[in-house]
Amino acid sequence: APRTVLISGCSSGIGLELAVQLAHDPKKRYQVVATMRDLGKKETLEAAAGEALGQTLTVAQLDVCSDESVAQCLSCIQGEVDVLVNNAGMGLVGPLEGLSLAAMQNVFDTNFFGAVRLVKAVLPGMKRRRQGHIVVISSVMGLQGVIFNDVYAASKFALEGFFESLAIQLLQFNIFISLVEPGPVVTEFEGKLLAQVSMAEFPGTDPETLHYFRDLYLPASRKLFCSVGQNPQDVVQAIVNVISSTRPPLRRQTNIRYSPLTTLKTVDSSGSLYVRTTHRLLFRCPRLLNLGLQCLSCGCLPTRVRPR
Ligand code: NAD
Repeated sequence: APRTVLISGCSSGIGLELAVQLAHDPKKRYQVVATMRDLGKKETLEAAAGEALGQTLTVAQLDVCSDESVAQCLSCIQGEVDVLVNNAGMGLVGPLEGLSLAAMQNVFDTNFFGAVRLVKAVLPGMKRRRQGHIVVISSVMGLQGVIFNDVYAASKFALEGFFESLAIQLLQFNIFISLVEPGPVVTEFEGKLLAQVSMAEFPGTDPETLHYFRDLYLPASRKLFCSVGQNPQDVVQAIVNVISSTRPPLRRQTNIRYSPLTTLKTVDSSGSLYVRTTHRLLFRCPRLLNLGLQCLSCGCLPTRVRPR
């Protein structure tokens, strides 16, 4: 029988692509429940699903921030959830001093507690049946801090710690956990962030910090999306491989161009190498960032390159 896969956040981006790709699995291994907070946005998904709609793909309402919505959604699913994909998420960038605690809590409610809420709901069934797979769309920012992404990175670090802990217990129940860690992905995600930033004034932030944010970080971030950003289809292929694996990995990065940066943290447990290298990239050699991470990938570390 096909495995029932429940995915959160399918109105756009990675969630939408994943739902469509799994629903079109040539071997028909999956019955996809593609969920979204606002069903008014279902048209793009339905159009992309094509003939799979109503066959291997159904659309359902689910707000990961609402207990009632989660209960309602799960009560409508025939059978049990075999694979849960925690994909719904949001970003937050900017100088800390100018961000409200309410905005930060909203990020945690969505990215962290949203996933926890869904896991709590499906876990009893998975434990009873002694099978299941929980996939979490984390980020390379779940592995390493990134300037001006303090709260978003913290929410992804929280997911990493939570699910790594849970993975130990769940192995005993034959339930697998997989954290997928993309670098930048070209979806609506970045546009939503930039729209947020263009309206924000970041009250209470000193001019020097604002200058670093607007004149160094934002252009560098935009260029990074252009130079190393993956398209959602590539990320989805990695997720599909994780879902179809018989021994799913705990962690899977999707962008090989990011490995040099993530490796900095593993080769130096003091953490200084990572912090100092990324500091230098942004504040000392911003031209290197303009080229994306390619220069890091090909081994010409910033210390050896003198920008003109
Ligand atoms: P996206 O903005 O297209 O998709 C995020 C989806 O989550 C949207 O459909 C949004 O409506 C939904 N969502 C937000 N709050 C929700 C809620 N309360 N209930 C239900 N759905 C909600 O962006 P994306 O790039 O496809 O992001 C998907 C996941 O990938 C996120 O968890 C994100 O953190 C992660 N990610 C994205 C990138 C990137 O650069 N785009 C990189 C690494 C990780």
